[in-house]
Amino acid sequence: MSYPQGLPKGIQGQVDRGAINSHVTNVCPEGTKFHVLCVGWLEADEGFVIRGGNTSVKSKEGESFANRRRELPMYCILIEHPHEGLILWETGCGKDYPEVWGPVVSDIFSRVRYEPQHELRAAVEATGNKIEDIKKIIIGHLHLDHAGGLDEFMDRKDVEIWVHDLELRSAFWSVATGADVGVYLEHYLKLGLYVKIPKYNRKKTANTTPRNWKTFDERTFDFCQGITLHHLPGHTDGLIGMQINMPVMGTYLFISDHCHVIENWRDGIPQGWLARDHPAWFRSTQRLKQLERTTRGQVIPGHDKETFENLVAQAKVFT
Ligand SMILES: [Zn+2]
Repeated sequence: MSYPQGLPKGIQGQVDRGAINSHVTNVCPEGTKFHVLCVGWLEADEGFVIRGGNTSVKSKEGESFANRRRELPMYCILIEHPHEGLILWETGCGKDYPEVWGPVVSDIFSRVRYEPQHELRAAVEATGNKIEDIKKIIIGHLHLDHAGGLDEFMDRKDVEIWVHDLELRSAFWSVATGADVGVYLEHYLKLGLYVKIPKYNRKKTANTTPRNWKTFDERTFDFCQGITLHHLPGHTDGLIGMQINMPVMGTYLFISDHCHVIENWRDGIPQGWLARDHPAWFRSTQRLKQLERTTRGQVIPGHDKETFENLVAQAKVFT
């Protein structure tokens, strides 16, 4: 236990408000910081993210009707961890989005805002860090707007990419069979580089491994001191959320696209055309609601504008 004087401030505050001790005592070591990196904005029809969005109704038949659209921020979390080094949670869509996605997908999910500071490399540098120093990447799910930024790491031999075992399988399967065209892309999923190295053998094979995909299949996985990963199937088979217990600011639950926008979470409205396995999604939501209650943590959806803006207003550097 790195806190002989008792729980750090942020975590103690949660326990005082009703959190269950054992769910929040895996705390990041003193000195841990994280940064929220904005890596661009998409825009899409609301029907993609909210079930029933833009549905026509009889009483308004004949009236002119503009389909509501949603602005969707893309973000990554860069964690400076005293024991583990630099950890990156998700990667955004990658710099060459319009070319990689092609004109049809880019018209549906338009990247409406992308300035020089939204480039992953620049966003990392703005925090005083270098992209070359990132040695571990955790991806919530391998859809193109979360894993596309892996193209920055294509020729890196020293970076571990962590995903749930089921996510790696379904991403490669989808690309290989065309089962879910458009959401997973071959561009950043390199079959030949699918290498799973057992821990005890890691040193021996490290030099011959071109790319280090790392997987786990636990429902709850202690990634390192202060960070726990939770399997939340539904939007994809192997989607995971990241729970990080920060010493000063407490618990954050980054849930990738388990929920795209706040209505999916706050009001329980299922995802729109991007939904996949609804019963699994519903069960994962219930587990996550319980986790929110037992940790008193803050839940951050994948692309909710208001939540995102409130988050970045909380602090420049999270401690
Ligand atoms: Zn997304």
